[in-house]
Amino acid sequence: MLASEVSPAHDRAPEPIPLAPSAPTSTVPRPRTLSVTDPSTLTAVGEAPVLDTEAVRAAVSRARAAQPAWGALPVRERLAWIARAHRAFVEQADRIVEVTGRETGKSRVETLAQDVLAVCDLLTFYEKTAVRTLSSRRSGTGSLPHKRARRVYQPHGVIGVIAPWNSPVNLAAGPALTALVAGNAVVIKPSELTPFSGLLVGELLRGALPDPELVQIVTGDGATGEALVKSGVDKLVFTGSVATGKRVMAAAAETLTPLVLELGGKDPMVVCDDADLDRAAAAAVWGAFTNCGQACVSIERAYVHASVHDAFVDKVLAETRRVNQGPRDQPGVHIGSMSFARQVEIVLDQLTDALAKGARVRVGGERRPDLPGLFLPPTVVTEVTSGMKLLEEETFGPVLAVVKVESDDEAIRACNAGRYGLSASVWSRDRERARTIADRLEVGGVVINDCLLTYGIPALPFGGVKESGFGRSHGEEGLIELSRVKTVVEDILGLGREFFGFPYHPRTYDVLKLAIRAMFGPPRRLLRVARRAQTRPS
Ligand code: NAD
Repeated sequence: MLASEVSPAHDRAPEPIPLAPSAPTSTVPRPRTLSVTDPSTLTAVGEAPVLDTEAVRAAVSRARAAQPAWGALPVRERLAWIARAHRAFVEQADRIVEVTGRETGKSRVETLAQDVLAVCDLLTFYEKTAVRTLSSRRSGTGSLPHKRARRVYQPHGVIGVIAPWNSPVNLAAGPALTALVAGNAVVIKPSELTPFSGLLVGELLRGALPDPELVQIVTGDGATGEALVKSGVDKLVFTGSVATGKRVMAAAAETLTPLVLELGGKDPMVVCDDADLDRAAAAAVWGAFTNCGQACVSIERAYVHASVHDAFVDKVLAETRRVNQGPRDQPGVHIGSMSFARQVEIVLDQLTDALAKGARVRVGGERRPDLPGLFLPPTVVTEVTSGMKLLEEETFGPVLAVVKVESDDEAIRACNAGRYGLSASVWSRDRERARTIADRLEVGGVVINDCLLTYGIPALPFGGVKESGFGRSHGEEGLIELSRVKTVVEDILGLGREFFGFPYHPRTYDVLKLAIRAMFGPPRRLLRVARRAQTRPS
């Protein structure tokens, strides 16, 4: 069965949906399935198939067959079709919130912002800019004035998209829509935790486009993802952890499949002694705990100047106590549960390690006994020092580690330590000081006096440095990333013979050297060379 043909559970009541009737005496092996659970209630949501290598290859073939007609459309026409998908995202917002909420435990307001608004914002950016971005551009021709050159942007063909679970609609639809705007077809592999969000993205996109086969959804686990990496797609956008990213890169090396890797982060904030502490504390709490800290750009570390450290911590603790965590669909809930049981264990292990090494948990720190789901409350830890997992590994949970520093230099050194480099924020009333710090941070993007906006502004290229990945999504760069840049050079003079061409004339060397000096030597030398050339016997 093709994943794109499965009736997802979101069309039905939220009870478990068996993929096939149970047949205990049958000798036919049942297809492998993913059992999806609502992490905020630990109740079953439904089952989705695990597609094997053959099914993934078939999906890629269908996408490949549909792509040429789509890629041949002018960008403006592609955008007109994609506008239908944009409308579908707006009209189906409640359904997206419900389907995604059930798989992730994310609160309704956060799903609406992170999985609907983010996609709509990105599409609006492309609607305004994609025609210009993808138009062919004239280029200079250097020392060859009798040539004309341009660069043209063409589709790659089929783009593979492997998505994580933390923003499962946005992180599948965002790269897929970018690929489609650029004229590609897409094959999306959603996370095993959130297949129904992936299937819903497929439904909304397939329903909008002239040929539904332009979008394929291949549900499954890591093996399905690996099959997609090795399927012969023309480029692959992988969003996920560093560990899986390395496996993806190794597998992609076999076929030299080009990659965009959007990997994990350990985002720091720097709080200077002249910062607006009320704003910085409020931002720290939102930036650390939105989506239960399960955002790649979550604030995980706060480096705070010693003179304001205690005041900042007090404000953070007061703000944290105001965060309302609960089942995602209850009124007034700010943040829901965590999404993944294994991730809760990882976070608790990091807290245990920090406590054993002298850190203090100031609020939170233990699973909530009053709720059945994966509820780990917002947690603030102080007296955190290097050598603790909390500062060295991605936490991907609702934990803010606060570290006292004595100077800007110390803060910068601490931010740049470690293998991640996704984004950061700097807090100071002195803009020059904040910009100087921002310039010295080894990250893909920095926000001054706010946070998380390196992802939130779709006009900006988003991505990491170091082990946070490479390649860019969003912005002009994101669209060009999923296009093939081809250069076209034309001769415009039609000379009978070019300067470069066999056989070389005995004087070619001298003439070329003269030309190099004339063109690239300093002006005084240019004059001398010209004069000497005039007096030289022929
Ligand atoms: P993950 O690496 O476990 O899985 C991501 C996807 O890869 C899933 O669809 C999974 O099925 C698939 N996969 C697993 N093994 C594979 C293999 N061998 N080959 C191909 N695909 C394979 O990540 P996750 O737990 O789903 O997501 C959380 C991680 O994602 C965090 O590290 C987070 O920081 C990162 N993330 C990064 C960004 C970004 O833009 N930089 C955005 C969101 C999340």
